[in-house]
Amino acid sequence: YSPIHVIGGGLAGSEAAWQIAEAGVPVILHEMRGVRGTDAHKTDGLAELVCSNSFRSDDATSNAVGVLHAEMRLAGSLIMQAADRNQVPAGGALAVDRDGFSQAVSTAIENHPLITVVREEVSGLPPEDWDLAIIATGPLTAPALAEAIRHETGADALAFFDAIAPIVYTETIDMNVCWHQSRYDKVGPGGTGKDYINCPMTEEQYNAFVDALIAGDKTGFKEWEGTPYFDGCLPIEVMAERGRETLRHGPMKPMGLTNAHSPTVKPYAVVQLRQDNALGTLYNMVGFQTKLKYGAQAEVFRMIPGLENAEFARLGGLHRNTYINSPTLLDQSLTLKSRPGLRFAGQITGCEGYVESASIGLVAGRFATAERKGETPSIPPATTAFGALLNHITGGHIVSDDEPGKRSFQPMNINFGLFPPLEAGALTKPDGAKRFRGKEKAQAKKQAIASRALSDCASWLGKSA
Ligand code: FAD
Repeated sequence: YSPIHVIGGGLAGSEAAWQIAEAGVPVILHEMRGVRGTDAHKTDGLAELVCSNSFRSDDATSNAVGVLHAEMRLAGSLIMQAADRNQVPAGGALAVDRDGFSQAVSTAIENHPLITVVREEVSGLPPEDWDLAIIATGPLTAPALAEAIRHETGADALAFFDAIAPIVYTETIDMNVCWHQSRYDKVGPGGTGKDYINCPMTEEQYNAFVDALIAGDKTGFKEWEGTPYFDGCLPIEVMAERGRETLRHGPMKPMGLTNAHSPTVKPYAVVQLRQDNALGTLYNMVGFQTKLKYGAQAEVFRMIPGLENAEFARLGGLHRNTYINSPTLLDQSLTLKSRPGLRFAGQITGCEGYVESASIGLVAGRFATAERKGETPSIPPATTAFGALLNHITGGHIVSDDEPGKRSFQPMNINFGLFPPLEAGALTKPDGAKRFRGKEKAQAKKQAIASRALSDCASWLGKSA
């Protein structure tokens, strides 16, 4: 076989290279560190962990990232092998000795007879003679390549920062307080006029909320010093600081909305949540990107009527992050629709986190290998963690229809909200006597989704679980 080129030797690129080589296809891995650094990496080692040393929960029975670990192990992941061998104690989490981990990945890659590592910056899209290539250059993709990607995909299709609004599990929103309605009942294509969930506030609640936003603990802004805020993307607490009325005339405006529970009382302000995935299991808080610390966010956002018991699939943030608008640009096998043979993998596709990035590298490597061998790439079922994450990246996403031009695709960690719901009756207790309730039900649901994922993943890989 002629080689597949992988650009970027981070978490995703290293895993992709390994999967391809283990399947008998040669790889040329291009990594710029050694020649050019990034703002976050400190070494020249492959798969360097730029911040925390944690791969998060290793619980494959009831934690979504634990399920992803298990699927990766099943698929022969190098990243998981290196992590398991360099584990340090961290309770139920999988944490690693970062140097030992990066060293183990580097050694395995550099010693693989089918992998050649080239230390160079790739400064444009792959040349014609790299007929199969994977771009896995991560959140800190070097500027020249980022510019080339932007040129190919269009100016709106590449983001350089994450302005993340918190995402709430739909089932934790109190619909006795909130109601479904689009502003002015506007019906967009495919919409119903009821696309949003609305949380009403009285004047007193609004004032208390604004005070809490201003007082809340914020994270520092070191990473962004000197960078102006982007218009339309101000952190919610910065808007609150600009004036007491700013939010009420911005993302929290009550116009065009009637409280279905008490139609005669006009809300003073409204927080809107927009459906975030096709399954309808997740809703994001519109306009609520924030630099508040996670603890403060949960506390302040639970002051919102209807969200008192909200559970968050992810909290808000504002970070430097290069990623493409994958749902419109990539096909299901992560290939750029405008350039057959060119795939993307890792954080640049819009997943978030070490494990997620590596897992998207894993599937991208397998897809490219299949293509090189003249086979059709086999897409993991949506019920697996691989498939659920892939579906978030390439497809199952709601594109905002009533705010033209507004990007609604945001990077995300794996979570149970990305998996399709269980089939009816899947939660019946074995004796059929009692039904699950409350916390026991939530736990049983996670376990059932996890075990369905692992067994479907094993079938996908042609293995027994
Ligand atoms: P990377 O691991 O960054 O790998 C990309 C590689 O491509 C790098 O080695 C880079 O040198 C190389 N490269 C870039 N451009 C070129 C080019 N033009 N030519 C050749 N090579 C190139 N996730 C977590 O789970 N936990 C955390 O604590 C965490 N902290 C983070 C902190 C920061 C500051 C950032 C930016 C991200 C953090 N992330 C964290 C998010 C993310 O999971 C990691 O960035 C992860 O490393 C992404 O994997 P990747 O393979 O996509 O990119």
